[in-house]
Amino acid sequence: MTSSSRLAHGRPVPDLVTELPGPRARAHVEYDHDWTSPSLPRAYPLVPVRGEGLTIEDIDGNLLLDFAAGIAVNSTGHSHPLVVEAIERQARELQHYSASDFYLPIYPQVCQAIAEITPIAGGDRPRVYLGNSGTEVVEAALKLARHATGRPYIVGFLGGFHGRTYGSVSLTASKAKYHAGFGPLLPGVFHAPFGRVEDLRWFDEVLFRHLVPANEVAAIVVEPIQGEGGYVVPEPGFLPGLRDLCDRHGILLVADEVQSGAGRTGTMWACEQWHVRPDILLTAKGIGSGLPIGAMVARRDLLEQWGPGAHGSTYGGNPIACAATLVTIDLLRDGLVANARTRGAQAMPVLRQLATRHPGIVIDVRGRGLMIGVEFDTPERAEAVQWAAFRRGLLVLECGRSAVRISPPLVVTEEELATGLRLFGQAVDEAAGAKDESRLEGEAAQAGAFGEVEAAI
Ligand code: PLP
Repeated sequence: MTSSSRLAHGRPVPDLVTELPGPRARAHVEYDHDWTSPSLPRAYPLVPVRGEGLTIEDIDGNLLLDFAAGIAVNSTGHSHPLVVEAIERQARELQHYSASDFYLPIYPQVCQAIAEITPIAGGDRPRVYLGNSGTEVVEAALKLARHATGRPYIVGFLGGFHGRTYGSVSLTASKAKYHAGFGPLLPGVFHAPFGRVEDLRWFDEVLFRHLVPANEVAAIVVEPIQGEGGYVVPEPGFLPGLRDLCDRHGILLVADEVQSGAGRTGTMWACEQWHVRPDILLTAKGIGSGLPIGAMVARRDLLEQWGPGAHGSTYGGNPIACAATLVTIDLLRDGLVANARTRGAQAMPVLRQLATRHPGIVIDVRGRGLMIGVEFDTPERAEAVQWAAFRRGLLVLECGRSAVRISPPLVVTEEELATGLRLFGQAVDEAAGAKDESRLEGEAAQAGAFGEVEAAI
């Protein structure tokens, strides 16, 4: 059991004082459903009101242990004191002035700080564009790739997720439902198979032979480790092979590290694990500790092809988000990236034991650092594990077809990790005991009664 001071006051974490969801959570879910867009997928009925480190307090006063981090976002934990202090200080100084039209002092500082931790192809220092989210910097990269190369076509990967605005959703191919009813999508986007070195033959044998010439492809956009598509780690030669392919054909390699970046995999960027330098790297989520920010880090010669007005945003690089980002980068460099590596090494053998304990039910355990996916035999089983974990006070989130992701804040301690893994193991035991499919479906339906259960992004 773990305890965290401001919220817990000596209570263990998790500590459940009501059934989950509690009465106030149930009432809140009802209220929410009356007013909010039904497009929000909602994984399960968690109503968080406070957070500290790994601890979430819900609306009923339950303390929960967070292994989901607000969809792999809260890298520095909830309300890290240094992040809070930076936000407060900046809010007192200046809350907004658009960096699109004026010169915000903190904006280039963040660009420099991100550029200095990001290995980009070519010898020059990269330059950086700031947006407010992952999808915004994916859009920026699509525009830059077409503009800088003069080529029309873009390639993404089956299983990839890049966001929900028109360009990024066109590139997304993790689940068909993201496209349902929205066609026609952005023209000129193709999807390649992901992950195996032999899949790279698709480019020469299918794309370039039958569909479009290589010299008309502007960019290949890849998640070095797929996120929403299932926490899928490619074979070791895959990313280096892609880099070679891009070099051969003058195609830009864009690494979407919105989920895999900012230290989560135990290196600052996942692509560093294969010594691959992209031409453009995208980050968001963990880089701002939960404040809305995204960054496109690009080869200087590419970005310098954009003239004034080519791209911009009223809020991108908002000073408060920038202040949180500067502190986050310091914290990542000063220990959190290393902690992700150490804690990942602690988690892997424990999770792999689950596969030994439940053969045929736990199908695969994969990942790097604190980006770990556990694949189950069926989507219903993954659903049941997620629900059983929630009812024990452990927050995890599904991904892919039948996987559950383990993505705690990077500040997780050895003890907190051990507690979470023990609870996760119990949740798997419970879901594995549910041999009969109708019981599994019952569990999933119970979770679904509070909204659509299929978690996303
Ligand atoms: N790219 C990747 C790899 C993501 O995982 C996500 C979101 O999960 C996005 C882009 C979109 O980011 P956002 O939700 O901030 O728009």
